[in-house]
Amino acid sequence: MAAAWQDVVRDAAAVREAAAVAVDAALLAGVLMRTGEQPHASDVVNYAPFTLLPSAVPRALFEQAYAVQQDFNLLVDAISQNKEFLEQTLASTIKVDDFTARLFRIYMQVLEEGLAQTVFLGINRSDYMFDCGQDGTAALRQIEINTIAASFGGLTSRTADVHGLVLRVLGKTEEASHLLPNNPAKGLALGIAKAWELYGSQRAVVMFLVEEVQRNIFDQRYVENELWNRNIRVIRKRFRDVFEQGSLDASRRLYMDGQEVAVVYYREGYVPQNYDQQNWEARLLLERSRAVKCPDIATQLAGTKKVQQELSRPGTLEKLLPGRPEAVARIRATFAGLYSLDEGEEGDRIAATAIANPDRFVLKPQREGGGNNLYGEELKQVLEKIKDSPERTSYILMDKIKPQPALNYLLRAHSPLQVSECVSELGIFGVYVRQGQELVLNQAAGHLLRTKAVEHADGGVAAGVAVLDTPFLV
Ligand code: ADP
Ligand code: MG
Repeated sequence: MAAAWQDVVRDAAAVREAAAVAVDAALLAGVLMRTGEQPHASDVVNYAPFTLLPSAVPRALFEQAYAVQQDFNLLVDAISQNKEFLEQTLASTIKVDDFTARLFRIYMQVLEEGLAQTVFLGINRSDYMFDCGQDGTAALRQIEINTIAASFGGLTSRTADVHGLVLRVLGKTEEASHLLPNNPAKGLALGIAKAWELYGSQRAVVMFLVEEVQRNIFDQRYVENELWNRNIRVIRKRFRDVFEQGSLDASRRLYMDGQEVAVVYYREGYVPQNYDQQNWEARLLLERSRAVKCPDIATQLAGTKKVQQELSRPGTLEKLLPGRPEAVARIRATFAGLYSLDEGEEGDRIAATAIANPDRFVLKPQREGGGNNLYGEELKQVLEKIKDSPERTSYILMDKIKPQPALNYLLRAHSPLQVSECVSELGIFGVYVRQGQELVLNQAAGHLLRTKAVEHADGGVAAGVAVLDTPFLV
């Protein structure tokens, strides 16, 4: 998968010049983040980290990832409506993982009361790496699917322009013209707008549920502004605002200080640290409401690592998507080996295998946002410690994907310019809207390429490891 720029990557003078152009182009294009020092204000901003050069991505795998996205949308939507499956799959996890258990309790509570919500909006991002086989061929392997707060669809809507300019500065005009346009922000906004419209109240607003610290606000603004441009009002609120100002009327319409809310778009609420007692109460209020939650609590649960692992069991996809053998085959073709660590013989066996071969696996807890997985020696130590305790059940094991590295420069504010061996992760955004039982929208909405230096086992742009990139199809 050698990129087309192995000739320039070692030309120090050309790289320095291109990097200076690249950084200013990112600022001009709006590839921005608030700074760590001033995360609450936009008075001082900097560019979001990105690669100097677009990274090579095999065209066939890129197309495969797009082609399976509508299937994944269907699958997530089906899981979110399958109480029996969620109950069975998460039964062991919720005994030991308090966060998943609390989400699950809210799920059961809203089901018992009866759902007031009739319109459903899913925005997800299915992430992949390109596994390099013994013979050198690469295969598309899903890392995970994010069903809540999948980010960077906004900022990445601008990275192709930046990389196009960099390639031109480096004399690669032909290659620059081949970079694909990409605008996930527009696709996400389209889904939100559709859900808003089906909710059916002109006066109602879209509420972005945001974090206390909003460093990545510009990423969200891209989606927000698309909505304003469609004359849909947007408000930004935190859980704590919902606790203080939120209420339901008799038909469980959601109001914030008297203003009706049609859609709640979560960009928060996916890790335990997002919740104190008040925030849990706010979450319950939102879930009980008639407002379209993106995602509703069932869809958030559908995105857990435990569900992902159970999907890989023979026969599970067929049960969840009856009568759709082609979709099942496309989905399954992207799966890496996934293993349950539930108590019993199956779990004992795979735990022993992983302890003996820690570099073949990744150990994953039920967490999101990067920086939680365990690899190598650490994986071995932790598994040895918990292998005979029920705590084991809160993790899953996954085959480690081994992509072919390529040279690139990771541009980060206040960091020296140096060449790194890098690997990339491709995400495809999916958007769907369901009204009652009818799926009225089901689309792939664009892509995100994130690249990191090989010395980091884990990823994540927000976690400070990966940076934004643009695929160059080869
Ligand atoms: P999170 O919910 O924290 O984003 P992920 O499953 O996406 O969890 O894992 C975080 C990062 O760890 C990924 O972005 C990727 O860089 C790395 N990673 C995860 N699973 C694997 C795997 N099976 N093989 C290699 N790297 C992996
Ligand atoms: Mg991830």
